[in-house]
Amino acid sequence: MRRSDRIAVAIVGLLVCAVGALIVSAPRRSTPLVAAVADTGQASDSTHVAAAAAEGGSATERMTITHSGEVRVRLVRSGNAPPVRDIDEIRRHLIQGAPATYIGDVLALQDSQIVRWPDGTLLRVWIAPAVTDVMDWNPAYVDTVRSAFAAWDAARIPVRVELTTDSAAATVHVRWIDHFEKDGTIGQTQQTWDQYRWLVGGEITIATHTMSGYTLDARWVRATALHEIGHLLGLNHSTAESDIMAASAHAPDLSRADIATMRLLYVLPPGTTK
Ligand SMILES: [Zn+2]
Repeated sequence: MRRSDRIAVAIVGLLVCAVGALIVSAPRRSTPLVAAVADTGQASDSTHVAAAAAEGGSATERMTITHSGEVRVRLVRSGNAPPVRDIDEIRRHLIQGAPATYIGDVLALQDSQIVRWPDGTLLRVWIAPAVTDVMDWNPAYVDTVRSAFAAWDAARIPVRVELTTDSAAATVHVRWIDHFEKDGTIGQTQQTWDQYRWLVGGEITIATHTMSGYTLDARWVRATALHEIGHLLGLNHSTAESDIMAASAHAPDLSRADIATMRLLYVLPPGTTK
């Protein structure tokens, strides 16, 4: 593994996309971390402990994160057409897809339901282009999020993304926050579901600091964006550390399983798989 990869992995290893208690005994700075992360792998109510040493080994930090789920759901009624559902076909796809994907993890976390955008959806995404109240926010982060959306193109799902500068016309908003006050969240996604479990809206918020003031630099912002966009498009957490959708992410980028699971998600209709 190249050094840059190792550092990226370490940084993302500390990314717990999370609502939870996040305690970092570190001053505000952006030094890359080299970390060893112990992960119980549960998407909710799990505890992650990371022992991290600042690059160069001069400082040691302890990070304890209690993950209690950062995805929020809002339910609305929509005029969408109901999905075409054939339970035998759904089961066949799940059996065929199971070995290369973590669809089982996703279903286990959401009562065996598939949640996704309708085929042919044009997502109008507004990324907050300027903020004055978020320390260490960089205008280049708009492009960072844009490139994170582009990375998910690899899954070739029937959803297109179009950036818009018109917040009022957007389906999806990406906003910035200095830090989350509640439970140490560093990234958050709100999904809006309709009566069929079609996704019809989404809101992503990305922090530039942890609750204790640790600066989350561009690599954190990218990893957080990739993870939260995964939620926005309908994925839930993987139990494998190598996936961007791991509850305590260890990966710097999308894995084959991330791509394969997203692709499988969009072969299946929304609603229960039982
Ligand atoms: Zn997550």
